Amino acid sequence: MRILIHTCCGPCLLPVAEKLAADGHEITAYFYNPNIHPRSEHERRLEAFRAVVEQAGLRTLPAPEYEPRAFFRAITFRESERCRLCYRLRLFETALAGRDDGFEAFTTTLLVSPHQDQERLREAGEAAGRAAGVGFHCEDLRPLFPRIREMAESLDLYRQKYCGCLYSEIEAEEGRRRKRKGRRRGT
Ligand code: SF4
Repeated sequence: MRILIHTCCGPCLLPVAEKLAADGHEITAYFYNPNIHPRSEHERRLEAFRAVVEQAGLRTLPAPEYEPRAFFRAITFRESERCRLCYRLRLFETALAGRDDGFEAFTTTLLVSPHQDQERLREAGEAAGRAAGVGFHCEDLRPLFPRIREMAESLDLYRQKYCGCLYSEIEAEEGRRRKRKGRRRGT
């Protein structure tokens, strides 16, 4: 099957592309992540994506321009639902790109992460697929998660420290601060 892979970052693409290709699919990667904040982080992740694509010899569709306004338009005043809306935005755009290029299906590397909500990803992917007329290939890819670290380290790839958006950056920093405080108390 010809599958377009929505790709959140280079390290997650590695084991997913390897598996889908081994399963006999013809795969193409697509980097669309207007959620990533700030621009410099978006550039770093895009660079890592390009390194993986080159290393693995993968086909790609051109990555759209960085457009953070699309993310903020989607989630503003609905921040408590932001992950669902973020999935919807990225998967709908991927489904449209897949339809326009004649793909039979699309999927996402987000399915490899135990930090993402599989059920919400499935719902968002299926809804996007229905709207665009392209099938959503939904497969629990989380067993591949441990491979990401070893594969990324072997290629010396950048690995991000937060999910992507400004909110997740703040939460990750708060978590690190709490840990540091806990360690200081423990000494
Ligand atoms: S935490 Fe991650 S999935 Fe949720 S809105 Fe932010 S970038 Fe998107």
